[in-house]
Amino acid sequence: MTDKIERIKCLIIGSGPAGYTAAIYAARADMHPVMYTGMEPGGQLTTTTEVDNFPGYPDGVDGPSMMIDLQKQAERFGTQVRIGMVTEVELSTEHGGIHKACIDNADWVEAETVIISTGATAKYLGLPSEQRLRGGGVSACAVCDGFFYKGQDVAIVGGGDTAAEEATYLANICNKVTMLVRGDEMRASKAMQHRVTNTRNIDLRYNTEVDEVIGEQVVEGLRMVNNKTGEKEVIDITGLFIAIGHKPNTEIFKGQLDMDDMGYLITKGKSTKTNLPGVFASGDVQDKEYRQAITAAGTGCMAALDAERYLTTVEETTEKEITA
Ligand code: NDP
Repeated sequence: MTDKIERIKCLIIGSGPAGYTAAIYAARADMHPVMYTGMEPGGQLTTTTEVDNFPGYPDGVDGPSMMIDLQKQAERFGTQVRIGMVTEVELSTEHGGIHKACIDNADWVEAETVIISTGATAKYLGLPSEQRLRGGGVSACAVCDGFFYKGQDVAIVGGGDTAAEEATYLANICNKVTMLVRGDEMRASKAMQHRVTNTRNIDLRYNTEVDEVIGEQVVEGLRMVNNKTGEKEVIDITGLFIAIGHKPNTEIFKGQLDMDDMGYLITKGKSTKTNLPGVFASGDVQDKEYRQAITAAGTGCMAALDAERYLTTVEETTEKEITA
């Protein structure tokens, strides 16, 4: 005899601000959500120190504490938060169909709706000195952490739209921003490039890479290398921002859900609907542009509302079929 497979009304994959907000709304709508946290419970915010830009925390909050608050709030309304990784999915293509998810390569669960909030992972250079100083002055989010470097000298790595946008953002706050672009041109749009070159306190360096981040506990400087001439130069900085792209965590959905060429899930119009009925995406997994805790939380709320409406249409269809 086989064990009965657990049937969940609303399965939430991922435990960042998007997942927890979806859970709060889904739980309050009696959808009895079950959340699988993934490998990094709490998501990207748990690697941040102070969060100063999330409304409602006038004195700021550290990332891990905020995620604990969100978890408590979700659990207060009955969300089951489970430590575990969804390692495989079999998503139904039918309206009202049942989706399946495998947990930790072992047990399967079934779900009437699925909210995907698996986030995206910031790419880092991979240098030992960079890894050592993450949280000690090395950051992958200028909008989150730039404020701590007010009036100071910082550097940013990358030549895409994110790097260009973040460099100009930092230039407003900091004394000087050295921008390291590894090629001899920037990948960012022309408009963004103009913004960078027209900003007085951005020192733009082409063909330049990080050789080493200097400092034991906190960033104190940067050794740069010109990859054409091999020439090295040391500058004093207190913050280093890495803006070389993100990787959305969508590997397990490949071939089932529509994605753009970078792997971000595609949602329909202003909704969180994916190409499959009953499957919704919220947070950074479907947003390569804003990537803020508050925008992720907003789409988490939308996903729960979309899921609730979807279940209502499924119930209505079933009732019609019964009475027909
Ligand atoms: P991109 O992939 O567009 O750019 C990454 C940048 O990082 C490139 O300049 C790349 O250099 C550089 N890079 C990659 N790896 C390394 C490395 N190991 N060392 C040094 N440099 C490295 O990522 P973005 O995050 O900038 O943008 C992602 C997407 O989001 C894009 O489509 C972008 O247009 C969009 N976006 C749009 C915004 C807007 O419209 N306001 C704002 C932000 C993003 P190289 O060019 O040499 O490969």
